[in-house]
Amino acid sequence: MKYNYEHIVILGAGESGLGAAMLAVTKGFSVFVSDAKAINPEAKDFLETNRIPFEEGSHSLEKVLQATLVVKSPGIPNEAPIIQKIKEDGIPVVSEIEFARPFSKGKTICITGSNGKTTTTLWIFHILKKAGFDVALAGNVGASYAKQVAQNDAAWYVLELSSFQLDDMYAFKADIAVLLNISPDHLDRYNYQMDKYIQAKFRILQNMDESCYFIYNADDVAVVNALENTSTNAVQAPFSLSKPLGFGGYVTNETLIINIKTTTTMSIHELALKGKHNAQNALAAGIAARLVEIRPELVRESLTDFESVEHRLEFVAKVHGVEFINDSKATNINAAWYALESMSKPTVWIVGGVDKGNDYNELLELVKSKVKAIVCLGVDNAKIKETFSSYVAEIVETNNAKDAVREAYRLAGTDSTVLLSPACASFDLFSNYEDRGVQFKKAVRNL
Ligand code: ADP
Repeated sequence: MKYNYEHIVILGAGESGLGAAMLAVTKGFSVFVSDAKAINPEAKDFLETNRIPFEEGSHSLEKVLQATLVVKSPGIPNEAPIIQKIKEDGIPVVSEIEFARPFSKGKTICITGSNGKTTTTLWIFHILKKAGFDVALAGNVGASYAKQVAQNDAAWYVLELSSFQLDDMYAFKADIAVLLNISPDHLDRYNYQMDKYIQAKFRILQNMDESCYFIYNADDVAVVNALENTSTNAVQAPFSLSKPLGFGGYVTNETLIINIKTTTTMSIHELALKGKHNAQNALAAGIAARLVEIRPELVRESLTDFESVEHRLEFVAKVHGVEFINDSKATNINAAWYALESMSKPTVWIVGGVDKGNDYNELLELVKSKVKAIVCLGVDNAKIKETFSSYVAEIVETNNAKDAVREAYRLAGTDSTVLLSPACASFDLFSNYEDRGVQFKKAVRNL
């Protein structure tokens, strides 16, 4: 697709919007930035210094409709009236990554899925960096892709892509794509239609040809079914925890095996991150690394010495025999499932918050076998109590991190684990999941 770059309007002055503005200015395009909310002082400073015209507090339609191309922040839903008007006028609306791609000479490794994107993205970045690649991190993590393309184009980019970003990508071609899994999440943005969400994730495959590689989870039914109905020329490199695979990777007898060109093997006990989900992330990362021809020895080493990511099954401390784990980023059922699954000691589970349509029954078996008590940390805990009260000896309700930690510690007893893995968003009691995780860790350290 050829875009007309004569006048670029950027909607949203966050990290991606500012990056897009910087790239547009660098290329000498005319730019206008419009944000429906207040723009923070630092961002304003940047816009003023670079003489980029902007507005804040609302979008003025006549200015926005002057665009030949609109770059939209992933936070703005396609249903927003302003987007509808722009589309009615026939003006293309793209993501910052779609916009920036033609201006970069670098290759891309793109990671998507419902859970595990950040972990896998950082893991791949770690391996490439260690192998001496000229590599940058972008997408949902770190500085925006557009900004890096403008300032210091890298030879390789590891990009974390959410379905919202993929929604606004058309000509973009991933050199290597990773699809980790698909489970219900963000369905509110897809009319509560799982099919639409799956289609959004599969946009990662669009434009990929026989020079590209598609790494995917062969154990994930939604992924496999959708792939059967998709035609692609990309070379497929699947991974599995349950069956041996030819070109790709799998786990058998607690050994991780990657078959790309040669065979790379290691014990899953050597992996830096624990739990089945992290074995999947490690397989995806290891396959990507082998596809770019990083030596098996180095791949093994980097799968072992990667440091865990904050708020993702992060070990916090051990207090009188009670281990505390912060998995605040588990904002849906699937992520909490993997967290509970990886628990090896009796667990006090801290759960709750803003529920995005959870079916807690999916966790019932794991709760029965692993959880000795539940501490609710949310405003409305009715569904949690209803689902688990017949199966768990004690359920208490709290509404702040300090009380949750204190109650969990009281209920734990020695040689047990307290796991914060809320299966919910955090906005009822915290500003975001990071805030929830940080407050949890602080409360643990103050015990
Ligand atoms: P994302 O960026 O997709 O939200 P993260 O790496 O931030 O993923 O992890 C989010 C949550 O999902 C954490 O609680 C983490 O422990 C869990 N998780 C990580 N990898 C996976 C996976 N492959 N499958 C399921 N859950 C996962």
